[in-house]
Amino acid sequence: MPPLSVFLQWIYFVSFFILPRMSYLALAFYEFVSIENPHLEVKKHKKFFKNREITCRIYLSEEGVNGQLSGSAEDVDAYIEWIKADPRFESTHFKLGTVSENIFPRVSVKYRKELVALSCEIEASEGGEHVDPKRWKEMLESGDYLVLDVRNEYESEIGHFEGAVRPSLKTFREFPKFAEKLAAEKSPKETPVMMYCTGGIRCEVYSKVLKDKGFNQVYQLNGGVINYGHEVGKDHWRGKLFVFDDRLAIEIDGDPSEPIAQCHHCGCSSDTQYNCANMDCNHLFVSCSVCTEKELGCCSTKCMRAPRRRPYQRENGNKPFRKKHLLASTEPDRAPASLS
Ligand SMILES: [Zn+2]
Ligand SMILES: [Zn+2]
Repeated sequence: MPPLSVFLQWIYFVSFFILPRMSYLALAFYEFVSIENPHLEVKKHKKFFKNREITCRIYLSEEGVNGQLSGSAEDVDAYIEWIKADPRFESTHFKLGTVSENIFPRVSVKYRKELVALSCEIEASEGGEHVDPKRWKEMLESGDYLVLDVRNEYESEIGHFEGAVRPSLKTFREFPKFAEKLAAEKSPKETPVMMYCTGGIRCEVYSKVLKDKGFNQVYQLNGGVINYGHEVGKDHWRGKLFVFDDRLAIEIDGDPSEPIAQCHHCGCSSDTQYNCANMDCNHLFVSCSVCTEKELGCCSTKCMRAPRRRPYQRENGNKPFRKKHLLASTEPDRAPASLS
């Protein structure tokens, strides 16, 4: 038996360093369901969040809801209970995780016409077949499928499933064009596709796009990579998961992983992303800490000389900038849909 002092030290460590750091919950969910008056729902949400310890980014539309939030366990629980009391969201799947602090700059609840921005109309009425993480793993191991990462390039760059096709998309709207190209390159009828995104919402829409292009065996990862990390862990996954909140990237199972990307300046191994300090660029790029310091948080020499450059502040780390925020400034193409 270890001496009592060791035990007390351990209790001290857990209660003072681990528990307080994990006292916030992060929640992600979406539901495609008809909402007659989304503007009213926006108001109701805002009222609910008043005086609560919650930060969020929630979009409501005639076609449903896409939400991500963080807050004290008590308030997050209260929110889940509140929204589940509405029959439309009774069976909504909520993905929960722990975080050390709130992960959004503020409470943001907005109306949006489309939950996933697209540049085309979709004909298909049904999406792909939902596959749970355990079966997804078996399907990966069979080697019989084309594995397709439908996220943007800046997301898949720092983490993805082994062997996945990773299109070089810059915004959500570019997917239909890519799908057309894929259909021309592969025989869509004979190519079964396993598609995945961060939390599953993009696959709900993109699977229909693939079907429109002639793919008839389409499988989508239920709950996205977030769910896979919770249920299976890191098997067949490499690197980190890009998320649309202040953290920018997370480990899918909580355990540290080796970076799979490289610093855009020097090429060394790194997976830390920064928004370029030139406000007129704001490009999201991977950089190592040495180069970030040397280049003053800029993505290029040109940006270092730009007139509207944010001062470089080491203590901010790689947190997204609050004002000209990556997400707030470029909607709707970079709709933060993917954590859901
Ligand atoms: Zn570097
Ligand atoms: Zn730049």
